[in-house]
Amino acid sequence: MTDPLSFAARNLAALTNRGELRQVRSLEGRSGTYVERGGRRLLNLGSNDYLGLSTHPEVVAAATEATKRWGFGSGSARLIAGSSSLHDQLENQLARFKGTEDAVLLSSGYLANLAAVTTLLSPDHLVLSDALNHASLIDAIRLSNAHRHVYRHCDPGEVQALLSAHLAAERVVIATDGVFSMEGDVAPLAELSKLADETAAILFIDDAHGTGVVGPGGRGSAAAADVQVHMTMGTLSKSLGSIGGFIAGPKPFCDLLRNTARAFIFDTALPPAACAAAISALHILEREPDRSTRVRSLTKRFVSVLAQGGIELADPAAAIVPIPIGANDDAVTIARELEHRGFLVPAIRPPSVPRGTSRLRISLMATMTDEQIDEAARAILDTVTR
Ligand SMILES: *Cc1c(COP(=O)(O)O)cnc(C)c1O
Repeated sequence: MTDPLSFAARNLAALTNRGELRQVRSLEGRSGTYVERGGRRLLNLGSNDYLGLSTHPEVVAAATEATKRWGFGSGSARLIAGSSSLHDQLENQLARFKGTEDAVLLSSGYLANLAAVTTLLSPDHLVLSDALNHASLIDAIRLSNAHRHVYRHCDPGEVQALLSAHLAAERVVIATDGVFSMEGDVAPLAELSKLADETAAILFIDDAHGTGVVGPGGRGSAAAADVQVHMTMGTLSKSLGSIGGFIAGPKPFCDLLRNTARAFIFDTALPPAACAAAISALHILEREPDRSTRVRSLTKRFVSVLAQGGIELADPAAAIVPIPIGANDDAVTIARELEHRGFLVPAIRPPSVPRGTSRLRISLMATMTDEQIDEAARAILDTVTR
């Protein structure tokens, strides 16, 4: 008898041969500025907890209190018996934070993209999608079955040409990350928003890495570009130190999503404690908006130390710094050496980035010191330019 699952071992061997095999390597304690892995203390340059809020005492206390009061699991979908006053409160606060009428919570940012895009788009519609959009946005677009054109990364000229070529389309969505997760750059939102307005298209922004980091008070990419957008997607799992995702937008759209999006209807509500943690994180961000300016200025500092040492990179817009390496094995070797020196620096390989563009992807946290940033940059210079 042949084993019908024998393809798994064969496919893994192929990944290994290409230098693309990945392994889950767990941490041995909380994920803060420092983490412990393999018995070593490492400066954490791989977290998207940009503001350091996941370990903030107030956030931890809010989640603990909510767990004591509500229990942990929500037990059911929002529309059945899984919703709590904390879910409602968080939706209201997210809408206020993003300046929209309403907001809807989903269990993750990934599901928020699925829910929003399948509510926006049917097979008759058209979507223009940036070539470097996040996988969850790509999957959402695929699931919608809408006509799809992928435009060159951050190229409003191509968007304009595509819009002109499809003036008869019944509904057009321009879908883009606000801050690109593996490049760290920002979408040309002013231009895209103008094009959307001129053609009555809908601009949809995945702001997973912008929320909490860019714009006044960390209000995100649209606020940073000073544009009004119809809606925006965000995650609670990065800057807001919790877990979950959301769509902020007009009330009728949010209500339609609650009624028709399968990722909302058929998915268990977030634990109330996750909502309490995000509510607390939003309070802290409103009280201490310096956290988002701090993480951006640390990122600029980091890039300028790298430049002094000969690694010239684009001016960072958010808190992500990719350092191009190229070959998979080189990226892995460099990351391993940095780990020996006390720095957790992820080597990003396909499928997270296109083949041949493997890189170190550094993300910074507002809770780091200037000295930690300088040390990290110097260690990277030593390792990469050797
Ligand atoms: C992380 C991320 C998501 C998914 O959010 P989760 O809450 O982790 O599911 C979506 N879009 C982008 C750009 C991301 O980086």
